[in-house]
Amino acid sequence: METVSRTCCPLCGSIHIHPFRRGTLNPDLLSPEDFRITDNRYGSLWSFDRCGDCRFVFANPAPTDQSLADLYAALEDGDYGAEAENRGRNFKVILNRLNKIVAEPGSLLDVGAASGIFMHLARERGFQVQGVEPSVQLVREARERYGLGIIPGTVDNLPPASTFQVISCLDLIEHLADPLPQLQRITTHLKPGGILVLVTPDIRSLAARVAGRRWWHYRTAHVNFFSRPSLERLMSLLDMEILSQHRYAWHFSLFYLMTRIWPSLGKRPTLQRFLKRINCKIQLLDSWEIYARKN
Ligand SMILES: [Zn+2]
Repeated sequence: METVSRTCCPLCGSIHIHPFRRGTLNPDLLSPEDFRITDNRYGSLWSFDRCGDCRFVFANPAPTDQSLADLYAALEDGDYGAEAENRGRNFKVILNRLNKIVAEPGSLLDVGAASGIFMHLARERGFQVQGVEPSVQLVREARERYGLGIIPGTVDNLPPASTFQVISCLDLIEHLADPLPQLQRITTHLKPGGILVLVTPDIRSLAARVAGRRWWHYRTAHVNFFSRPSLERLMSLLDMEILSQHRYAWHFSLFYLMTRIWPSLGKRPTLQRFLKRINCKIQLLDSWEIYARKN
């Protein structure tokens, strides 16, 4: 995989950058399989630096935008849709909050739409939904499951003049090698006064600090990490006003959680059926869910 070394912070441009975590992975050996959303090989991480000014944490060296784009286009994740019901529970909380912020559901763009679970639920609430997703397999799955016509690729594949009342980037920005310029391109598609919804892990959370290198968000696909100060810097650089911040809670089946630590469990059908019926809500207080308005 092609990488690029950084001499300054990719968010604020400061030259005061310091080693934060030593990496364990070899970029030359990575394949699309290492980037699956449901990947359970935790503890595989890039070498990270942290900015002394804005606190942004970023891979250094980092994969190039093009090498990531190629990899995500080839990504296949047949297990993602299997947790659709529980992922839907997470997303309904977001839609409830959005319903309080926007007077009337209008147009909504989901960036990194995966198999379309969020788009499907937003459409049920009356939003006119559009989505972009680089993985060819996930775009096909969204069509087959929900009849959604997601645009393959990134926001660069949208008609340039298209604008939306709401844009959602749910667990997206930690996957981007250079989130600022990409979010600048994304937010040009917001109508004036439009709402951006972001969900991303919090590297300064207690869970992250206690777990150290074993924090569950350290995985190959995550190439940067935000925290409150760097997210505030990001929003001001995007000329967005933060309306509210919440801790994001995760819903999973007990089966999904147990296969995170015990992958061979997936081979036992009876146990599998039983564990899939048990739903867990996990609140580790280690992700931010942010609503911001375009100025
Ligand atoms: Zn910085």
